[in-house]
Amino acid sequence: MMLTLHGTGAGTPGGDRMASALTATFSDGSLVLFDAGEGCARAMLRDRIDLSAISTVAISHMHADHWTGFPALVMAWSLAKRTNPVSVYVPPGTADFFESLPARCYSFRERLGFELTFHQLAGFSMPDGWRVEIIPTTHLNSVRELAQRYSMPPTAFGYLLLNGERRIVLSQDIGGEEDLRPHLDGAELLVCESAHVDPAAVLEMAQAAGVRHVVFTHVPPADARFPVGFDGIAWDVATDGLRIGL
Ligand SMILES: [Zn+2]
Repeated sequence: MMLTLHGTGAGTPGGDRMASALTATFSDGSLVLFDAGEGCARAMLRDRIDLSAISTVAISHMHADHWTGFPALVMAWSLAKRTNPVSVYVPPGTADFFESLPARCYSFRERLGFELTFHQLAGFSMPDGWRVEIIPTTHLNSVRELAQRYSMPPTAFGYLLLNGERRIVLSQDIGGEEDLRPHLDGAELLVCESAHVDPAAVLEMAQAAGVRHVVFTHVPPADARFPVGFDGIAWDVATDGLRIGL
């Protein structure tokens, strides 16, 4: 499996990092897209991804920097005359919204030429023996009351990518590093957002849990917290287009 980080920026836009989008590529050439931030289709094309090979999309939560690239991705698929189906996993309570979205952008179902199915976010299987489990995080706790008032899901999710004993943790957006603690034991890779954590604390926690490699992403512009003086574990700050072979 190959992970590619197409968008490593945070919610605050900067000029050199696109919004959140990460793909996993498998031996059969298919891809799973985790989050579809603004401009994700362009970011993936820049990184020489075949957009038609994306079989599954998973949206972790409804902050705009994690999903607003989706309707433009559907348009890109339509213009490229895609024919193979796509499964899209979306946060609880948002399937109707996503179902209606392509038509709101004139990507009418009758003219799409491919099947687009929406499911409530849950675990799912991927090729090469990998499977995804979702992990609820506290990222949206501070807006929980308002979210419920507006019938928005009050929960955000990270992902565990599992294959036998192998474990990869994608934090997506979290409330703080404590959200990760129960999931890190023995992970070969932690891809950790950096906007809502203390990077040094993440590295200490990861080292104690036996994590082999930490990659920080979701980096705010001009982030003065890096580099962090910590050499107890292999770690990097991602830039757009970073590929990680696993
Ligand atoms: Zn967020």
